[in-house]
Amino acid sequence: MSKANPFGVHRVMEPQGVLPQAAFKLNNDFTELFSNEILIKVERLNIDSASFTQLKSQAQGDVELIKKQITDIVNQRGKMHNPVTNSGGMLLGEVMEIGEDTRNKFPIQLGSKVATLVSLTLTPLFLESIGNVHLDKAQVEVEGKAVIFESGNLASIPTDFSEILALAILDVAGAPIQIGRLVKPGDTVVVIGGGGKSGLLSIAESRRKIGPNGKILALCGSPVSAKRVERLGYADHIWTQDATKALATYEKVKELTRGSMADLVINVVNVPFTEMSSIICARDGGIIYFFSMATSFTAAALGAEGISKDVTMVIGNGYGYNHAEYTLDLVRKEPVLRKILSEIFE
Ligand code: NAP
Repeated sequence: MSKANPFGVHRVMEPQGVLPQAAFKLNNDFTELFSNEILIKVERLNIDSASFTQLKSQAQGDVELIKKQITDIVNQRGKMHNPVTNSGGMLLGEVMEIGEDTRNKFPIQLGSKVATLVSLTLTPLFLESIGNVHLDKAQVEVEGKAVIFESGNLASIPTDFSEILALAILDVAGAPIQIGRLVKPGDTVVVIGGGGKSGLLSIAESRRKIGPNGKILALCGSPVSAKRVERLGYADHIWTQDATKALATYEKVKELTRGSMADLVINVVNVPFTEMSSIICARDGGIIYFFSMATSFTAAALGAEGISKDVTMVIGNGYGYNHAEYTLDLVRKEPVLRKILSEIFE
């Protein structure tokens, strides 16, 4: 076996010379494996929520059409890279081959059950078939193969979680560790999309850091997700509203904070056009953490400038050192959070 480029550039088919995430098409022919690649037998895709929402809406909820969209994207691009949202997701599978030059980096063995911790937008993927589509989980049962590069990342599925729940949690593992670095004691934190998977994790992480004088205000997309936040028991105020309506968000947060607005705004929705809701409810000098894949840099940058808001805007990085273990530990320490997530993902 020969050693290939650690970032996976050797698998880029077009345009030549770019990194795999930026590529339009990757080589998903795995007959020849390189010594710094890992081959995985894929069982399940966890499609990124923004991508899945877009696919579901385009297919008007028709499962066969969703399967066709996924098949077409992977056939065309050699990876599950949604061309509309530009986002991917991650996958669950079993390790089939471990290139000798990756052995020291990844604590895995042949047959280990793993979740990938890099996006499907840069993971070469070949699908043989698509099985059940789980509309409520944004997960799809598949048979296929994928490759992880030397610069990539994966996690063994822990023994104290079901595979499906672990996959769901690890999908958004970047959020809690980064929020833990941003939030300070006494902060007022607004979570936009608070009742979703990363929303609940963000609320739990924030509650642990803000102390008794901090406040959490949760904007939810529907009564169902608002109920989940209520059950978690950590938000000081929960309301249901369309987060694309920036003025409504402004008025609500102004009223709840008596005009002082939020120190930290966490955006974890899965739909576009919510940048201004996030920016407008932050105080001057506040921080906005955009974890949502539907975030537009242009809308955020020009929108903040347009209302003369001097804020720090942080892009939600999917990776943080030790983020997988950090997030699994958070769920282990939070039994109510674990119960709520288990009800959705088991
Ligand atoms: P999720 O569980 O589907 O949650 C999304 C939430 O957004 C839902 O609770 C939904 O509320 C809410 N929502 C949707 N439309 C809304 C609207 N118009 N107004 C208010 N709330 C609305 O998604 P997730 O898996 O936590 O992911 C959240 C975001 O993070 C997605 O954009 C995803 O793509 C992104 N993500 C980013 C990274 C990264 O590395 N930065 C990694 C993974 C995921 P209802 O359910 O009540 O409608």
